[in-house]
Amino acid sequence: MRIETRLVQAGNRQDPQTGAVVTPIHHATTFAHPALGESTGYDYARLANPTRHVLEEAIATLEGGSRGFAFASGMAAIACVANLLEPGQHVVVSHDLYGGTFRLFHQILPRLGVTATFVDTGDLEAVRSAMRPETRALFLETPTNPTMQISDIRACAEIARQYGAWTVVDNTFMTPYGQRPLELGADIVVHSATKYLGGHNDVLAGLVVVREDALAEQVHFYQNSLGAVLGPQDSWLLLRGMKTLAVRMERHEQNARRVAAWLAEQDMVSRVYYPGLADHPRRAVHEQQATGYGGMVSFELARAEWVAPVLNGVRLITFAESLGGVESLITYPATQTHHEIPKEVRDAVGVNDRLLRLSVGLEHVEDILADLESAFAAARTWG
Ligand SMILES: *Cc1c(COP(=O)(O)O)cnc(C)c1O
Repeated sequence: MRIETRLVQAGNRQDPQTGAVVTPIHHATTFAHPALGESTGYDYARLANPTRHVLEEAIATLEGGSRGFAFASGMAAIACVANLLEPGQHVVVSHDLYGGTFRLFHQILPRLGVTATFVDTGDLEAVRSAMRPETRALFLETPTNPTMQISDIRACAEIARQYGAWTVVDNTFMTPYGQRPLELGADIVVHSATKYLGGHNDVLAGLVVVREDALAEQVHFYQNSLGAVLGPQDSWLLLRGMKTLAVRMERHEQNARRVAAWLAEQDMVSRVYYPGLADHPRRAVHEQQATGYGGMVSFELARAEWVAPVLNGVRLITFAESLGGVESLITYPATQTHHEIPKEVRDAVGVNDRLLRLSVGLEHVEDILADLESAFAAARTWG
């Protein structure tokens, strides 16, 4: 069945006793054993919980993987995958990426004896030259947060395979509706499900999907051992949000295309980052591996003095962190989502003090544009 259908049907009639169209929320933390050595499939909720299980099955089929795992946040999901690495091993990581992921690879993993090299993973030569015999994983974001850089997932996975390394893709921005990295040769997909999958700015969650059973067993071992699982209530909220993912992504993109085109015409804007714009340097690579361009647009104001008045001037759009919900949000990466990244590194990838990131929501696009227009007009009076 097509992905729209699988999304809407997620969790329907999973409770054989009642035939409930909506998955029940199982709060039980422990489950009776029918007899010694027998199990209903559920023993203790950290290992498996029926509501979480429905969600994990849903994301596994959506991403085309063998098994899915749900975590208390996107960072918990990524940290679980990072725990598969051993002292002495090395990872190659996209140089523009979510600040928390940078912090994990830059500050936490070295303490466990795992080192990281950050490169433009869109440049295959740079990827090749960063790989070492001890490289165990290639971690990609595509498009990247926030400068929307594109990496060729299939080509990167081929390079990684030559080194016996896993390819891990953070698919938060495109979601399985727009991009399915496992079908392109990646081994592991991670998500901050807090964003588009949840879609309503009301649930913090992370997901991991693996392509092969052998890896699934390892991830399950770490998920259970580390313990940062997603609770039943949040699993249910996430499933509820995911049902409408297809229609939401369609409208996010329609609105984002209009906003990106409008921004590109403004003389107050020196640069717009959106893979759907004709001048995006790796638009063709993105189009080969994804459908649609997503709902995230970043842009650089021509003058740093305009940042504060634009952020103060928006009325409909909320100045806040996060992305992917129905409400439009505007973020200042330099001090918010990407503050963890040293300034020299940020400047090198374009996350400078003039960059703003817009999560284009599902409001009427004319209202979004009018809000930006009036915030820009107010900022212009600042000189
Ligand atoms: C938000 C985000 C994360 C972290 O997820 P949390 O749910 O906030 O822990 C990871 N990767 C990307 C691309 C993100 O946008």
